[in-house]
Amino acid sequence: MIDKSRYDESKPLDMHNLQFDVAAAKLNLEPWIAAKIKQPRRELTVSFPLRYDDGRIELLTGYRVQHNTLRGPGKGGIRFHPQVDLDEVRALAGWMTWKCAVVDIPFGGAKGGVTCDPTTMSLAEKERLTRRYIWEISPIIGPEQDIPAPDVNTDAQVMAWVVDTYSVFKSYTCNSVVTGKPLSIGGSLGRLKATSQGCVYVLAEAARAVGLNLDGCRVVVQGMGNVGYHAAEILHDAGAVVVGMSNVQGGLYNPGGLDPRRVLEHFQVTGDITTYPEAQAVTNQELLELPCEVLIPAALEGQIGRSNAERVQAKIIVEGANGPTSPFADDILYDKGVFVVPDILANAGGVTVSYFEWVQNLQKLFWTEDDVNQKLRDILVRSFGEVHAVARQEKINMRTAAYMLAIGRVAEAKRVRGIFP
Ligand code: GLU
Repeated sequence: MIDKSRYDESKPLDMHNLQFDVAAAKLNLEPWIAAKIKQPRRELTVSFPLRYDDGRIELLTGYRVQHNTLRGPGKGGIRFHPQVDLDEVRALAGWMTWKCAVVDIPFGGAKGGVTCDPTTMSLAEKERLTRRYIWEISPIIGPEQDIPAPDVNTDAQVMAWVVDTYSVFKSYTCNSVVTGKPLSIGGSLGRLKATSQGCVYVLAEAARAVGLNLDGCRVVVQGMGNVGYHAAEILHDAGAVVVGMSNVQGGLYNPGGLDPRRVLEHFQVTGDITTYPEAQAVTNQELLELPCEVLIPAALEGQIGRSNAERVQAKIIVEGANGPTSPFADDILYDKGVFVVPDILANAGGVTVSYFEWVQNLQKLFWTEDDVNQKLRDILVRSFGEVHAVARQEKINMRTAAYMLAIGRVAEAKRVRGIFP
């Protein structure tokens, strides 16, 4: 029996380790394999100066953690955020390992980040930051080694600087070093909305599993970044009623429904979503507890925990973010009958289309958007079915089922590869 009191709910790495330990205990793995695949394989910490536009120079710290490379190159995004530290990047890198394994794509897991606040930076400052960070981690990244991608506060433009910096470093153009690039330099159709589209595909499967009709159902989305905004837009267009939306400033509630495009437009014009006229302002915490059928946390980790899980009213939670729900909250939600589609499955659409982008780059052959979405749907529907089957068979929640499948695959890779030297 695992003593859960030893894990601190406020620490993403503790939550990653608890999720791992619960599932690994059910698999009866060789202890050395369990110990090996739980830990990051390689970690790099870099520190470098950033020159701001006003001439000021500040020393910044960045990380790249390769959690696992047994099934293929490391894969995972780059995050620019004040909350980034080594332990957070370790947790995020671990989640990438299990995500790639649960959807069975040939990647390991990695993650990178720089501790900074890019929202206060000019575009030129963000470019210098990106290029210098990539320069610092360039010895350990590469198309066969470790392939970065967008994450919180990084986008296609940042990925374009990654391609350029790495290519200058190598003296030839190498676009397969990163995914989530602009289409003009080898990006994939469908990648921008892939994470959100994937959330919607698995939501459809979850709705079928619990007998919920998505047409006209009430949806709350936390976060208005790439994942949250596009999820709200796709679901609104598909006939769901988006009753709640939020960003870092706060949330909005309108039981009659919000139009995500108009909320975004209001934010772009005024710089403040909380003043949107046709809604009631709520806090991000209140948002999670609004009456709805579907809740999509698509912001940061650590949102649903012991203190608020009981008050969640949704029937289905689809985790667009990484690590939004703690294992303590999972137990409460399971007992309440809330169906949680865990992050490593729910938001795997992003990395799955990253895989398609990488394949297209290596083959120098590009697919249509329909092809991309069809293949994405096939992978997610199959993976959902596999996870759901384990959950029902073992009478466990979807998260532990997903981890059991993922850990089993990574453990098998270690077992057959063996130890060298
Ligand atoms: N940052 C995304 C994630 O957390 C995408 C990673 C990728 O495409 O490599 O899954």
